[in-house]
Amino acid sequence: MRIHDAVIVGAGFGGIGAAIQLQRLGYDDLVILEREDDLGGTWHVNRYPGLAVDIPSATYSYSFEPNPHWSRHFAPGPELKRYAEHVAEKYDVRRHMRFGVTVDGARWDEESSTWQVNLRDGETVAGRFLLTATGFLSQPKLPDIAGIEDFAGTVVHTTRWDDDVELTGKRVGIIGTGATAVQLIPELAKVTDHLTVYQRTPIYVSPKLDGPVPGLVRGVFDKVPLTQRLARLAGTSILEVMMVAGVLHYRNLPAANQLGKRACEAHLRRQVKDPELRAKLTPDYDFGCKRPTFSNTYYPTLARPDVDLETTSIDHVDAGGIVTADGRRADLDVLVLATGFDLWETNFPAIEIIGREGRDLGKWWRETRFNAYEGIAVPKFPNFFSLNSPYSYSGLSYFTTIETQMAHMERLLAGLAERDADVFEATEEASDAFLERMTGLLGDSVFNAGQCATARSYYFNQHGEAVLLRPTSTLSAHREAARFPLEDYTFSVGAQAR
Ligand code: NAP
Repeated sequence: MRIHDAVIVGAGFGGIGAAIQLQRLGYDDLVILEREDDLGGTWHVNRYPGLAVDIPSATYSYSFEPNPHWSRHFAPGPELKRYAEHVAEKYDVRRHMRFGVTVDGARWDEESSTWQVNLRDGETVAGRFLLTATGFLSQPKLPDIAGIEDFAGTVVHTTRWDDDVELTGKRVGIIGTGATAVQLIPELAKVTDHLTVYQRTPIYVSPKLDGPVPGLVRGVFDKVPLTQRLARLAGTSILEVMMVAGVLHYRNLPAANQLGKRACEAHLRRQVKDPELRAKLTPDYDFGCKRPTFSNTYYPTLARPDVDLETTSIDHVDAGGIVTADGRRADLDVLVLATGFDLWETNFPAIEIIGREGRDLGKWWRETRFNAYEGIAVPKFPNFFSLNSPYSYSGLSYFTTIETQMAHMERLLAGLAERDADVFEATEEASDAFLERMTGLLGDSVFNAGQCATARSYYFNQHGEAVLLRPTSTLSAHREAARFPLEDYTFSVGAQAR
């Protein structure tokens, strides 16, 4: 059987970045397995109206491949998809991709020192290294609401958007008010006859400093790349301050957190004059417990006469619409589920992964605690880069996480080569020490020190621990990725090399 240098699961920005790094390090026999029919991950799958990035585009991109052509400061979704295609072509990683391939699981084979990756159609693919780049927000969550299957109209989840669903002149209901709904609701209201928005938990919304990037600026970005690097630095610095001061150091710097909260509350006051509606839209948890979002059009849309914000909980759905707990019903033609993603039940990991001594990663995480050394490696899982791990998400732009992990791969694989070894494994001691340090740091964050009980935030797992985000600055994460002690791993010679 052919043994690839590496098997990468997922052809989104994470998988593309990992493939670029492996190629740079001399590993050219790669296979990237993707369940969708094209690359781009979230930016290929999500196509709902209004989709756009909500991190400034100069920052939401690979630092080594700036794109001077973004049309807006916050680029629309299709531009992100084109950017992913451009990067994959330019860095010649598309040739490794196989689409429409669902991976069921992977098992470390001690005898051959390889990962045996099982595909749904029965095929097995083998690789020396395994990398999972399956994303955090890739398993859509369908709400557990009684009677939803009885609805006679059309039901559509935002991540499976269907342009053929007729919305013009229709009575539409949308469940959920997360970042997706905040983008979609203004677009829906433009065409629907009536829109009912079902909100369970309000979200903090701050003004979006968006607009077209003038041609002159794009030209300057193109001719003098340093200017775009400065724009990136500015964007990254603002996000870093928001995250570090406002969220991670909540206990020591509560005033910074208050600044974020106040900015959102002032935005709400400016845009919504009706005190009753404003009260419904005011979160009762601390800023940062749940991912805030940016919009200039969300609040004004909710104030429209043909849009209702419904905050009474949903009792059930029947053939004709939604009935709330107080017995009122809304007759609907279309039901949009903006109910987000399942992170903690079907993700972590997204596929079954069995390491040494039969250790099942998903079970082990659930039976002990969720952790990965430096957010990337797990003891008993040799030659495995778990790119969507607990404590891996660093900063607000996903690209900071991707590039931090690329730096970790570079140091680790150089260490492996220097030792003439071909199997690495994080030690239990290093992993435990990392977990202890992260747990300690979380104590200062808004997640532990603030009021997050009512936020219903997906940052928290089933044990109530906020283990998705790494509670350090992105600078510190990157520095550690480039300098971590190589003694935190064991290196050995695998069966193939012996
Ligand atoms: P989300 O933030 O998880 O929001 C899901 C919404 O559905 C919440 O309002 C939730 O209410 C509601 N909901 C779920 N189950 C429900 C139920 N059974 N009954 C009533 N309401 C229910 O998901 P999302 O909006 O798709 O966003 C997910 C993440 O994707 C964002 O945080 C962001 O990181 C990313 N995103 C990014 C962009 C961008 O950059 N352009 C755009 C969109 C999304 P509760 O809060 O009460 O649970």
